[in-house]
Amino acid sequence: MNISNFMEVTFKAISINEGFARICVAGFCVQLNPSVDELGDIKTAVSEAVTNCVVHAYPKHNGMVYLRCEIEDNTIKIIVKDQGVGIKDIEKAMEPFYTTRPGEERSGMGFAVMESFMDKVEVAQNGEKGLVVTMYKQIGKEKLQVSNA
Ligand code: ATP
Ligand code: MG
Repeated sequence: MNISNFMEVTFKAISINEGFARICVAGFCVQLNPSVDELGDIKTAVSEAVTNCVVHAYPKHNGMVYLRCEIEDNTIKIIVKDQGVGIKDIEKAMEPFYTTRPGEERSGMGFAVMESFMDKVEVAQNGEKGLVVTMYKQIGKEKLQVSNA
């Protein structure tokens, strides 16, 4: 596929970087002229994916989060990757309210939030170590729907 623009950033999996990741992706998306709602949706989804790397991926040691965004036409593709413990049963982990950390104010809704705010979410093992979350969102869909009505 012909990618018209992309960016990559790598940062430590610590909670202070959740806000950095949101702003970073939002800044990159601005070139697609998103609505306030669309930008909010993207920032929320990125937060959930990065928070998961911070909270779940590296229980025993510090690790990194690898973030890549690609723009093709009016669609943004966001890849959030870690090299942590990964997930044995991805299908189960994606079920709403499923969490392996119930005692820590986790509600098990992170993947459900990503799915509701983005057009498509794919979750896979990152080779032998960690997880890859890939999310897609077409920008300007609301405007198209209004103008076609
Ligand atoms: P919430 O997001 O509502 O605070 P949560 O993080 O537990 O709670 P999800 O984001 O839906 O809920 O994730 C479900 C489960 O998937 C987690 O409890 C965890 O076991 C696992 N998980 C998610 N992301 C990762 C990751 N990057 N590495 C390892 N395990 C993960
Ligand atoms: Mg979560």
